[in-house]
Order: sequence, then C-alpha cells, then structure tokens
Amino acid sequence: MEKDLLKTPIEFLKGVGPAKADLLKTEMHIFTFGDLLTLFPFRYIDRSKFYKVSEIQSAAAEVQIKGKITSIEEVGQPRKKRLVAQFEDSSGRVELVWFKGAQWIRKSLQIGTEYVLFGKPNFFKGKYSFPHPELEKAEDFVKSPMGGLQPVYPSTEKLTNKNLNARGIAKLTKALLPQLKGVIHENLPVRLLEHYKWPSRQDALFQVHFPTSIEALELARKRLKFEEFYFIQLSLLLQKDRQTVQTKGHSFDVVGERFNTFYAEHLPFELTGAQKRVLKDIRKDTRSGHHMNRLVQGDVGSGKTVVALLSMLIAADNGYQSCMMAPTEILAQQHYNGLSELLEGTSTRIALLTGSTKTARRKEIHADLLNGQIDILVGTHALIEPVVQFRNLGLAVIDEQHRFGVAQRAKLWKKNAVPPHILIMTATPIPRTLAMSLYGDLDVSVIDELPPGRKPIKTVHRYDSNRLQVFGFMKEQIALGRQCYVVYPLIEESKSMDYKDLEDGYESICREFKRPDYNVSIVHGRMKPDDKDYEMQRFAKGETQIMVATTVIEVGVNVPNASVMVIESAERFGLSQLHQLRGRVGRGADQSFCILMTGQKLSNDARTRLETMVRTNDGFEIADVDLQLRGPGDLMGTRQSGMLDLKIADLAKDGQLLQLARREAEGALKEDPRLQKPEHAATKQFFIQKHKGKVQWSQIS
Ligand code: ADP
Ligand code: MG
Repeated sequence: MEKDLLKTPIEFLKGVGPAKADLLKTEMHIFTFGDLLTLFPFRYIDRSKFYKVSEIQSAAAEVQIKGKITSIEEVGQPRKKRLVAQFEDSSGRVELVWFKGAQWIRKSLQIGTEYVLFGKPNFFKGKYSFPHPELEKAEDFVKSPMGGLQPVYPSTEKLTNKNLNARGIAKLTKALLPQLKGVIHENLPVRLLEHYKWPSRQDALFQVHFPTSIEALELARKRLKFEEFYFIQLSLLLQKDRQTVQTKGHSFDVVGERFNTFYAEHLPFELTGAQKRVLKDIRKDTRSGHHMNRLVQGDVGSGKTVVALLSMLIAADNGYQSCMMAPTEILAQQHYNGLSELLEGTSTRIALLTGSTKTARRKEIHADLLNGQIDILVGTHALIEPVVQFRNLGLAVIDEQHRFGVAQRAKLWKKNAVPPHILIMTATPIPRTLAMSLYGDLDVSVIDELPPGRKPIKTVHRYDSNRLQVFGFMKEQIALGRQCYVVYPLIEESKSMDYKDLEDGYESICREFKRPDYNVSIVHGRMKPDDKDYEMQRFAKGETQIMVATTVIEVGVNVPNASVMVIESAERFGLSQLHQLRGRVGRGADQSFCILMTGQKLSNDARTRLETMVRTNDGFEIADVDLQLRGPGDLMGTRQSGMLDLKIADLAKDGQLLQLARREAEGALKEDPRLQKPEHAATKQFFIQKHKGKVQWSQIS
C-alpha cells in the first residue's frame, strides 16, 4: 500500500542514519518517505556540459570542470584560517577555498586524482576561485547516472555539514524513488490528465526529481502544481459549502422603512454603479436563508462604509442588530462619528464600544444590547469579548479584515445560535490569485469604481535634498486652504530610533511652519487615545494645517480637505502601505498630491516600489507588483500563510494554473457534490487521507 510505504520513517532509508534523520526532521520537517518525495528541487542545473578553466567567463554562473588538485595548504591568521587548494586542467588553474571544515576536507581530498568540480566562481585579484565547491571523484561521477539536468534541493548549513547539501539530498531521493515504483497512485480524475495531456502522478514525481528532458519536466511540474492547487481549492470549496449552503442563516426578507427612508431622504449622494452591484450581492446572500460570508474589496475611498451601513439598515428592518468592527480605536471612532452623522434624524440607534469606553457606559451598552435598545454597535476588538452579548445579532461587518484572523471571525459565530452574516471589507487590494487561495471560502465582491468627481492623485518621488522645494509646495497648497500630512515610518512601535525620526521631523516642520500662520498636529501610537483623538479632531476641523504622524493614520482616516501626503523615508514602506497612505488624500474634489521622499541610495526593490507608485493609482496593479516583489507569505503576514505553504506551486507565478484548478474543482463539485462518482474515487481517497483529522468528512460523504 502506498500509504504504508510513504509513512515509513525516514531513518529507514538507505544512507540515512539516526543523526541525519534527526537533522532532516528538525531542519526540513522531513519525517517520512512521503515527506522526502514531496521535497521538490527548486531548480535544475545542466550538468551534461563540461567547461575548461580557460573558458570560465562570468563570475555569476555555475560551471563544471574536470581536473586535478595539485596542492593543498592552510593559509591566513590562526583564527581566520582557510584551506586553499590549487585545481588545474590542461588549460589553466583555479583556486578552491574552504573557510570551514578544513580538517575533514583536507583528509578527504587526494592530490593527483581526477575530480569533477562544480560551483560558482568568484573573480578576485585577477584569478578565479571557488568557495566551498562540490567535488566528486571523476570515476564516481561516471558511475552515478546524474548527468544531464540535475535537481537542486533546498538545504541548510547544518545539513550541509552532515554531507546533506543539495547533492547529498539528491542522492537520498535517488535511493528512494525506485522503492516507490508502482505504489504512487493517481489522485486526479483521468479525464483531466487526458484533456491536458499531463503525466500520471507517478511519472510526474519521477520526472520532477530526475528529469529526462526539459519538456517532460515542464509537463510534470505543471501537473504537480495543478494538483497542489486543485486539492486546496476542493477543500476551500467544500468549506465554503459548509459555511454557506449548509449553514442556516438569518433571512432578511424585507427591505423596509429604515432602509427606504434613509435611502430616499438621508443619503447625501447617489450610489456608484459598483456600490449598487455589491449591495445587490449582499441583498441576495442575506435573504437566501443561508449564511453569508462575503468579502468586499474596494480601493481606498471607493465608499465601502456606506455599503456597510445600508446593509446594516436592512438587518434592522428585519429586526436584527449589527456590529461593525474596526482595527483601531481612531478608526472605530471615526466610523461612529460618520455613521452617527448620516443617521441623524432617523430612528436607528448606534453606539460605540472600544477599549477606552468607561465602565459605566460599558455596562449601559451591555444592557442596551441585550434589551434591543441598540441597533448598530461600532467598535474595536472589544466587540468580540464574550461579555458583549446581543439580543439578536444578524450581521457583523469587519472593516480591514487582514488584521482580523480567522479565529477571531469564528468568535462572532458564537454570539448567536444562528451565526450572524459576515461582511468583510478591505481596502487592501488582494491579487485575484491570492484572494482565491486565502479567501477561497468567501464570496468576493469588488467595488471597482470611485465616487464621481475625484481627480487621480498625482504622485512624485523627491530626494531629501529637495526638501525645501517640498516645503514650498506645501505652503502653496496651504495658502489655497488645503491641508497636508507628513508621515514617518514606524516599523515597530517599540523602536525609539523611529520615534527620533518622527520627533526630529516634527521639530523641523515646526521651525519651517511657524505659528501663528501655521498650526501643526502630531499623532503617533505612543500617545494616549484621548490625546490622539484631540489632535485628529483639530486636524479634521481644519484648526491645524499639517498633520505629522506615524502610520496610525494609515487605515480609514477621512479628512477630505487634505490634499498633500508627504511620505518620509518612503523606501522603508511596503507597497500596500504606501498605497494605503496615499489613499488618505484625494478624498475631496481638489487635485491631490503624494510626495515620496527618500535618500539617494535605494535598493532595486525600493526603486520598483517607488516607480510603481508614481506610475499607477490602481490598487490591484500595485498589489500584483507587491506579490511579485515579496511573495505571498510575506504579503499577507505569517498569520495566514499556513494556507500558502505550497510545495511546488507559486502564487506569484502560477496564477493561471490556480484559476484553472479553481474552475476544474468547481466543475467537479457541481457535477458531483460529494465526490461519489467512480471517476472521483481516487481524488476523494487522497483528499480524505490528506485531511485526516482536520475536516469533518461526514459532511461531504
Ligand atoms: P473606503 O472604501 O475607503 O472605506 P469610505 O467609505 O470612507 O471609503 O468613503 C470615502 C468617502 O467617499 C466618504 O467621504 C464617503 O462619504 C464618500 N462617498 C462614498 N460613496 C460615495 C458616492 N457614491 N458618491 C460620493 N461620495 C461618496
Ligand atoms: Mg473604510
């Protein structure tokens, strides 16, 4: 049985003793044969070609040379000793250098024996040298059939020290594969293999470790990537089915007086087409009788809040309460203020609950929630504490979801016998491929249209040496009645160095923009909430012209009169952060500007980020570049990267295969929702094994 053999502990593989087994476990999480089988090469090198020493040209590429060692000696200071060997062929000589393991290497090398050398040359003082090269006796090299395309496996320093470098691991795989012949079963529906002309699972796995040709390798990799995506999508789609179709939800049957009156008499603008469309999606979900799990993606300023409000009014029309959670105190306060203003003169009752709500008020809120005196509760994490109980929570809106983990979402479910509908709003555009994997269990709506009359923000990159000009520009804008943000990076709230930047910056701005002509606000994470709020309000009311801040203003803050966003040390911000910050301006009818300040020295990545910001305002395009630059794990933070623990596929590069896998998985489940047909038997069997103990299979079988 495949199962048994693949579960064999790795120490039973020839060539792996207890010590190596331990290292493979701790360093690479390889516990079994199966784990080693799915440790995939991350690249391949062509070792069919031999070079001559005289042919070495670039110091970048790896070369393979046949030759002999003519001498070995230790050189350097006692504590910085290195081992240097001279290696030559008929055309010339190079140096081999080891900084570690000198004793062992010296013992193992033989002068005068023919070796095959493989490595990346350095060019130093007119000579080529090879630090820590791979060496194999030429006679062994001929014996081992490792010519042609060779796999390069990931390894670590500790493994390398135990002789398990990329090549050492390749030897293990080589020993493993023949034992698995005939026991690696197919797990994809045969119709897919036939249709896409993909190899069987066994063939693909053999090819990917030891390819016979580049073409065969490509097909094998494609198939394995597809397979990886396919099983993730199956699992997400089944989960989605459980959360929505199979979970009963409150049915919001009517659109009543609250919604209609508000829409007709209080809504200060016409909804955009995109807002209407998303509202329709929500309407459809919430009256289906099933549970809604919807993610609304909309760029900064696209008007998500009012969509949430209208949804909450529909809940109220049907006798349900709603809550709206924001990631920060400032944002919760601002939502509360904004919503209260919109709801003025209506019968809808709204309250705010945050960490700084006083005990007496808190108790009042708790009581009012239970007796139904509150229709909408706005707040921070404080909302999900167990003491906060609702009379009848029907809808939970989560703003800026990437700060709320899946576990926190689950807590909301517990607030009612029937879980509330969940509406997640995010202004962080997530590339489609990523959304499909991370939020594949959610339905997604996109607000891809800004309210009318907005002018695209003009973005420029300026060097620190141009600061006086930038100050001059700010003065011009202020003279026109506008306001400016100046934002400093704060990578970690605790680092005082960052605060020093902020404080120095604040001082220099106060020197340049003197009272009484100018007033400057400052807001940062170390301030008391009350003080923060006071400063924010002063700026919002137009009492101050400049707001010096850290990224606390990143999310959600809305001051339409602000038209200039200066971002200091812009090279230290990630793309999505820059985009979020820029979204703080351009919210009114005026032309707005974003000025990215940096020093002269910039890394390539930083340059790409700045160029992207200058080139486009499109959040989805920016998110795509971000994905290319950082990879999916970093992009979403480690918290959620478990889902993205891909072994061979790459979300940044394999988007098309992912979409294909999604379509095929949807197709399979549509036609056979419980995967009961014979053609899905193998897929189902594999799925069950993969998810053993993790999903309640009863729900699909
Ligand atoms: P975000 O999607 O970033 O949360 P907001 O909901 O804060 O955006 O909306 C940004 C601004 O646009 C707010 O001042 C809001 O009142 C305004 N707004 C929203 N929808 C419209 C619309 N359809 N027409 C005009 N202004 C709108
Ligand atoms: Mg918002």
